[in-house]
Amino acid sequence: MRERGIEATWLLAGDGGTPPLRDGALVLDHDDRIVALGEASQLRRAYPAVPFEKHAAVLTPGLVNAHTHLELSALHGQVPGGRGFVPWVDSLVKARAGLHPDIDAEAIDAAVSELLSAGVVAVGEVTNHLAAVEALGSVAILGRVFHEVFGMRKDTGEVTLGLARQERAARTSWPKNLGYALAPHTPYTLHPDVLREIVASARASGARTSLHLAEHAAERAFLMTGKGPFADWLTTRASSPFDWTAPGCDAVRYVQALGVLGPDVIAVHLTDAHADEIALVAQAKCPVVLCPRSNLHIELKLPPLLDILRAGLCPGLGSDSLASNASLDPLAEARALQQRFPTVSPRTLLAMATAFGADALGFGALLGRLRVGLAPGVIAFEHGPIVPSDPERFILHDEHPTRTVLSRPAYQTLASEVFA
Ligand SMILES: [Zn+2]
Repeated sequence: MRERGIEATWLLAGDGGTPPLRDGALVLDHDDRIVALGEASQLRRAYPAVPFEKHAAVLTPGLVNAHTHLELSALHGQVPGGRGFVPWVDSLVKARAGLHPDIDAEAIDAAVSELLSAGVVAVGEVTNHLAAVEALGSVAILGRVFHEVFGMRKDTGEVTLGLARQERAARTSWPKNLGYALAPHTPYTLHPDVLREIVASARASGARTSLHLAEHAAERAFLMTGKGPFADWLTTRASSPFDWTAPGCDAVRYVQALGVLGPDVIAVHLTDAHADEIALVAQAKCPVVLCPRSNLHIELKLPPLLDILRAGLCPGLGSDSLASNASLDPLAEARALQQRFPTVSPRTLLAMATAFGADALGFGALLGRLRVGLAPGVIAFEHGPIVPSDPERFILHDEHPTRTVLSRPAYQTLASEVFA
């Protein structure tokens, strides 16, 4: 297949810095890699043999949903929120116990279709049983699969870790477009030795992993004192209690002391993190991913975005699962933040849904930005007869403009560029 040109009213680089380009164009090669980008008139002159298509639209790179749990898609709309994390997780556990595997598989397929039509080109998928691996492996999405382990006692943690390793080993063929790493669930749902072992194991494989960190107040209370709503909930469960002592500090300092923080561990949420704790995350160069609408659903609370940006962090966005969210669209996360943080520029918010998410997943060298050399996918947001004067505000507007995926690279063949 030969080269192809795309011209549009506006091009948004999605990198958080480059201003919008009016009447811009790009040229894609047969791999959907950008070989040229600039003013449309110049590009047409420079590439006279290339056919150009013209769109009354704002173009962005493909979107990145850096944290989701497709495995929980069948619970869409079934887990009420607004009462805090512990009542939410209690409802989740009960609802999940009643699910038939067939329903699970159908819901995962529907969720993957939703990602494709939303223009998502990359995901961070957190999974307990690798249930979405096949569905994700069969589409042109680049992903990291984080195989999540729980276990509050050392013995139960070791058993769960062993089962996860068996599950992975049983998959003799693994999709080329997906990375894999063992992942600790949270600092408070794992025995510290097992938590360390999981992170060490992910590090030894050269993969980055992911950790829910400082998500809610019950986590803080539990780690500080061993008490609070989470400890109370544990006593109502049949599972045996934990066999370690609460560290008596916040979650960030706790995992820092365990040697867990680093550029290869994605810190997800930070919704309950204080400014001094966020500074430690930044110091450790952890990639950060925020899931604002999930936090709103569960805790009626948003992450401290201004503190996070002030600390120099460039957070990506994730939807978390459909058990705590209405959709899997990263731009809807950006919109939710825009409404409550009007001082944060739309350029930064768009980058959180594209480049920053790509960087958090370690995919920044391949996608997340409209830039020569990258294969980011191209999304068109159609504007109709009225040309928007501010294209960044336009795509974050509540009256969701129609979105078309103009380019979706075959990440199965490009994945070797980001996976060791
Ligand atoms: Zn999550």
